[in-house]
Amino acid sequence: MLRVAVVGSGPSGCYTAQSLVQLDPAVYVDVLDRLPCPYGLVRYGVAPDHEKIKSLQNNLRTVLEHERVRFLGGVRIGTAGVPTARLRELYHAVVYCVGAATDRHLGIPGEDLPGSFSATQFVSWYSAHPDAVDDGFVRAARSAVVIGVGNVAVDVTRMLARGAAELSPTDMPQPALTALTASRVTDVHMVGRRGPSQARFTTKELRELAGLPDTQVEVGRDELALDPAYLDPADLPAAQRRNVEVLRGWAESPPTETPRRIHLRFFLRPVELLAEAGRVAAVRFERTAPDGHGGVTGTGQYEEIEAQLVLRSVGYRGVPLEGLPFDEQNGTVPHLAGRVLREGVVAPGEYVAGWIKRGPTGVIGTNRPCAKETVTSLLEDADILVREERRGDPLEALRAEGAEPVEWPGWQSIERAEAELGASLGRTVVKLPDWQSLMTAARGQGS
Ligand code: NAP
Repeated sequence: MLRVAVVGSGPSGCYTAQSLVQLDPAVYVDVLDRLPCPYGLVRYGVAPDHEKIKSLQNNLRTVLEHERVRFLGGVRIGTAGVPTARLRELYHAVVYCVGAATDRHLGIPGEDLPGSFSATQFVSWYSAHPDAVDDGFVRAARSAVVIGVGNVAVDVTRMLARGAAELSPTDMPQPALTALTASRVTDVHMVGRRGPSQARFTTKELRELAGLPDTQVEVGRDELALDPAYLDPADLPAAQRRNVEVLRGWAESPPTETPRRIHLRFFLRPVELLAEAGRVAAVRFERTAPDGHGGVTGTGQYEEIEAQLVLRSVGYRGVPLEGLPFDEQNGTVPHLAGRVLREGVVAPGEYVAGWIKRGPTGVIGTNRPCAKETVTSLLEDADILVREERRGDPLEALRAEGAEPVEWPGWQSIERAEAELGASLGRTVVKLPDWQSLMTAARGQGS
């Protein structure tokens, strides 16, 4: 028997567990998560109105319900939790699928003004992450600036423009629903520092913006045309060409009067967030121009965009896990085909998969082949790994050392509590947004 711990129950953790049990009938997997709820970014990152992507939870569920897989929620690994070295003593192998837990910074003046947030803070709030803080995001805002043109930027832009009729059927927590439906934000400016042919969003997500009720998407033809590839997209890779074609179509459409507007802006590099009465009031951008090599240079011309809310959506970043090597440059754990490298040498029994392995890129499905590569490496090492004796059930050892894992029945109890909460509010499932209600629900079942 090969006992494997997978740390993290998001898509990469679940796909790792799935590959392990599919490829080796002698493997037993514990999927550990610091939260009492599984599914990682599928639960706490995918936007609530993206129901189809959210339904991936049903696939991940079948993995966690596999007879040789156990979900152990509420178990923190590393600092203030179970040390990584202890985990290695309990399991033949450990696969870290801990994602990229923080957001990147802009490093410009005013970035931390009240009213300026990372997109992650905003996403966590409307996704009911128990660590999220209600910062009154939209309370004082009429105009919002979203910095960055990736899919997260599109998500938060869309959520700011959605109305009550579209948000109520989602599972978003009641305080976020109340705040967003009362929002007076009329203008959302989504701003890229490079050109339309270099935007990171995918076309499906981009197109969705034009389908929002009572909302008009505005693009400026002259600004788009600063990008040589905009004028002639024929040589662009398919994904970028499709984006440009969509933007070209919008640039040709006559403007209409709508209560809300999304302004897609390009070639503007943020240089400072400006304050009024101690809060953010505008973002100052420098106009950029293509440098001919895929980058941009400053032009010395500046523009200010009014904003009482700024969401910085410039990508995620991995954080070091105590006891594991870390590449500060890339925000990842150094590895060879998923095997952790310590000072360039393979560390037997330690593996990585997902964003902590390859950085925060790709869609959910990208994690499948990534996990498979890691699992293949692990199973190649299995003969060596099983020589190290691992006595008894690691769950008993974790419990004896003070951990109180939330097991699958505990999670099912949370699911029931969320269904009951939804019914009491006249909605469908509504997520529990704080640690106390989650743990009360989980323990109420007597996991
Ligand atoms: P991302 O795709 O890496 O986009 C980051 C954006 O921030 C880029 O436009 C980047 O511009 C910009 N940026 C970075 N540093 C900047 C700076 N200092 N100043 C101004 N702009 C800056 O990251 P993401 O949107 O967080 O998405 C992460 C991953 O999750 C992606 O793979 C994404 O596709 C995926 N995701 C998918 C979905 C979906 O499928 N529906 C939803 C959400 C997220 P440059 O290109 O110029 O660096």
